[in-house]
Amino acid sequence: MSNCFILLAAGKGKRFKSNKPKQFINYINKPLFKHSLDKAIKSKLFKLIIIVSNIPIKNIKDKSIKVINGGKERYQSSQKALDFIKNKKFKNVFIHDAARPNFSIKLLKKLKFNLKNNKAVVPYIKTKNSVKYKSNYNIKNLNRDSLLFTQTPQCFDFKSLYDLSKINKKSITDEASLFVDNNEKIKFIKGEENNFKITIRSDLNKMKIKTFYGIGFDIHRLIKNKKLYLGGVRIPFHSGLQGHSDGDVIIHSIIDGLLGAMKKKDIGTLYPSNKMKFKNIRSPNMLSPILKILDGERYYLNNVDINLICEKPKVSKYREKIISSLSNLLNVSKNQINLKGKTVEKLGLIGKEKAIACEAIVSLNYYV
Ligand code: ZN
Repeated sequence: MSNCFILLAAGKGKRFKSNKPKQFINYINKPLFKHSLDKAIKSKLFKLIIIVSNIPIKNIKDKSIKVINGGKERYQSSQKALDFIKNKKFKNVFIHDAARPNFSIKLLKKLKFNLKNNKAVVPYIKTKNSVKYKSNYNIKNLNRDSLLFTQTPQCFDFKSLYDLSKINKKSITDEASLFVDNNEKIKFIKGEENNFKITIRSDLNKMKIKTFYGIGFDIHRLIKNKKLYLGGVRIPFHSGLQGHSDGDVIIHSIIDGLLGAMKKKDIGTLYPSNKMKFKNIRSPNMLSPILKILDGERYYLNNVDINLICEKPKVSKYREKIISSLSNLLNVSKNQINLKGKTVEKLGLIGKEKAIACEAIVSLNYYV
């Protein structure tokens, strides 16, 4: 695997009108540049990922990711990254603009596949508009079928690109331009309509969204000599929740809510209680595979509302801790989670502190 991914995130985004460079503003559920970064990681195609940025990026622990400073113009940033990897013996290099967060991993793989027999592979889309070309006082009609609108990621044989970039003196808007200017062959492949560039603020809302809701309910008996976990937090209490797992009713309800919203059956189907391998499983470990499905299928969590139904422990005492824990586990901010406590007037099993129940409703956005 000798591929390097260069993520250009050093632009100023003059048309975007924001104090923060647009690559770092929140898009859907995370900073804009992270969408491309996460997909590059997930594709498992790259030995090294370089982020070119003029502001520091914190919390990058992965050793296969390097952050370097960019130049004033896009082509200078790209050149800096190419110089950085010059002696690292990469056969192929992919270059991508962080302002295009919506490409698919499938596109990355298609690019890589086509590079086998080519030195440059570039995705394009066509336009549906009629096109006129204006120069001085002349206007000409152009045949739109002959126009290619190029996108990134673009991928290249490293040496071919490096040699062309070294002789380039002018500002270019993509690396394909180098090949065009030097009459070098490019393999064009079909790009993606969703892979648009975020340039102005309204582009942030261009993706089509569908919203789905899911409801979850759970109840477990309280038994002596077991630790009590609620929302992943260990709560000091006289009893714990009976069950095959740690009996965390909050997490179990959320899992069922998430599965419900995604139309993927229920927790019992995924974790049958007759399977030994799930015995004594901690509930956060039951949640993480569900979040992987969520992420892989373009669902994003909007909010969760939880009713914890019990006489004791008092929810108000642990609310902050539980919300913090859930925000970590679900990888969303605390203000997307609400936790309510509900007593049952000392009625029934729950009223006699022999059981704890929980219900949760979740809302997911699905980006079409
Ligand atoms: Zn349960």
